[in-house]
This record gives sequence, C-alpha cells and structure tokens, in this order.
Amino acid sequence: MNQDKSNSPLEGDQKPIYLALSGGVGGAKLALGLSQLLAHRLFVMANTSDDFIHLGLNISPDLDTVMYTLANLNNKELGWGLANESWQFMNALEQLNQPNWFRLGDRDLATHITRTELLKQGNTLSQVTQRLTVALDIDAHIFPMTDQVVSTFVRLEDGSALGFQEYFVKEQCQPKISGYFFEGIEKTKSSKQFISTLDNPNLAAIIICPSNPFVSIEPILSIPETADAIRQHPAPVIAVSPIIAGQAVKGPTAKMMQELGIPSSVLGVAEYYQQQHGDLIDCFIIDHKDQHLQPELESMGLSVLAVNTMMNTLQDRVTLAGHCLSLAAQWTSEHKEK
Ligand code: GDP
Repeated sequence: MNQDKSNSPLEGDQKPIYLALSGGVGGAKLALGLSQLLAHRLFVMANTSDDFIHLGLNISPDLDTVMYTLANLNNKELGWGLANESWQFMNALEQLNQPNWFRLGDRDLATHITRTELLKQGNTLSQVTQRLTVALDIDAHIFPMTDQVVSTFVRLEDGSALGFQEYFVKEQCQPKISGYFFEGIEKTKSSKQFISTLDNPNLAAIIICPSNPFVSIEPILSIPETADAIRQHPAPVIAVSPIIAGQAVKGPTAKMMQELGIPSSVLGVAEYYQQQHGDLIDCFIIDHKDQHLQPELESMGLSVLAVNTMMNTLQDRVTLAGHCLSLAAQWTSEHKEK
C-alpha cells in the first residue's frame, strides 16, 4: 500500500504522474483503470459543482462516486452509492414524511455525516477528502476541484433555473434545458492539490475523462485560470469522448447536446471543447464506432486514436487507461523531436 498520502511531489520518485479530471460515473470508470496502472501516481480532480446540502448533510456525489469506485466499494447495480447497502434510514425518513427523492443508504450516510462534521470543525473539503480516501485505503490521490462552494443550475426553457440535483435526480433530467451556469464560480480558486500537481515536474499528461462535458468537466475548466494553466502546461491534454456513436452510455449528455443545439457526436464534443477553451486538448480518444469521423477531428488539429471506449469490464477500463498513457508518451516523444 502507498505510504505517502500527501499530494506533494513524491520525493525521490522520478516516475511520471498523471492528472485526471473527472465527473461521476463515466469519469470514475476510467479513473479506476488508471488507478490499476498507476496507484499513487494518479491524481484525480473531481467536479464539486454538483455538491449540495441535503437534510443538513454535505453531499459530494462525484467525489463519492470516484472514491467508492477506486475503493472497489461502489454499487454496480445502482450505478451510484455503496455496495451491500441497506435502507433503514430512508424507510424511517419516509415514515416521517420527509423528502425521499435523494436516496441515502445507511452505509453511505456515514460518509456524509463524517464529511459534514469534519467541515463543521473547520477542515477544508480537500482535507476531508484526503481523510476519507486514506480511511478507504485508496492509493490514488483524489481531491475536489475547489474548496469553495459552487452550484450548478440548469436553465429551463421558461427562463427559470433549477438546482442540478433536482434536475438530475428528482426530475430525472426530463425538463428541456436551454443552458446551465455555475453559481459562485467566478469567486473560486482551484484546489492547492491541482496547483501542486501541475507544478510537479513528473506530470506526464492531463486526462479529461469521458464525463459530461457541460456539467462535469466545464465547471472544473471554468474555475478562474484553470483552463489557462492546463493549456500552458507542456504535458499533453488527452480527452476521452463520453459519446459513442451519437449516444451517451448513461445520463443526459446526448439529450443536453440536442437541447443546446450541439450535434450529439464526437465532433460535437470536440467542437464544444474547442469553442470554450481553444486549443486546450491535444489528443482525442474516440470509440472505434466513430472512426469514420477521425479525419474531420484530425483536421481540427487533434491527434486522434480510435479504440474500444465502452468500459463494461475492469479489463476494458484498464485497457483504455493504457491507451491514454501510450498516447501521452507518443505525443510527448513526437513533440520533443520537433
Ligand atoms: P455523472 O456525474 O455521474 O453524470 O458522471 P460523468 O459526468 O462522469 O459521466 C457521464 C458520462 O459518462 C456520460 O456522458 C456517459 O456517456 C459517459 N460514460 C459512461 N460510461 C462510459 C463508458 O463506458 N465509455 C465512455 N466512452 N463513456 C461513458
């Protein structure tokens, strides 16, 4: 087991390290593959703009999904929460006629209560997350995108705004959206671990996981100076498409794209990132089902790799993670030669 749980550069360790930007489910799948190959050399920065306070508890859905997945404790049937869960708390809550749209399992509750208590004691979310990952025996470094509060809202067609969890969980993504925004983002600073990871001379690549580009990755990149800092870093930025053959594997990404007037395809994803962040991304990994779009993506200046990106099994996750690392090494050697 990794003994060094600090997020500072690993002393005397010259091996490359990697930074992954992640939302919840899609991001955590690739993060798991990467963690199998890299252990403590993996740094995962998770979206926290889905975080909210519910029943007095600080809930961080994406951080928890990444933590539970990397600890191999995630509930594979539900796709969220912990395995071997029981629901006594929810049943009791229902009996008291309290809101039950956001399900909190008994075991999961321990995480939220611990986080809430540690935050109340004055710890930052980064410190709390580090305590939780150490307790869960996770080798990789997982940290929030910021220690400040940011909240995603979706804009509905009538102009009103809906909190993200109400849209995502309570309304099951049914309402049509015309946009989204991250309340408080302009006042945030990226977490210290992000800065120290970027400053680490061994950083070999920044990997944008196949997460929702709008509400999982965009909040991370919208933190002031974050996208610029990534763009200016010499390591390649590798994005993995969350869209396969025009469809999302899970969740509202494709539906959101249609409603936002963005073509729901790998081209739509690449164009979105380019429009928002210029030449941030160097390499784009797409599914082999989208290989016919490779020339068009290459004409946008991207190095493209078409492989299987559907991560059904652990081996799929590890294989895709391996492709990310090889592509990073190849890109770096080609660009050193120039
Ligand atoms: P959320 O915060 O829980 O919604 O999770 P993310 O934003 O991290 O992930 C949602 C995205 O993951 C969706 O766009 C899915 O299409 C994508 N996704 C989920 N599983 C896979 C997979 O196996 N392969 C790829 N390429 N994308 C996936």
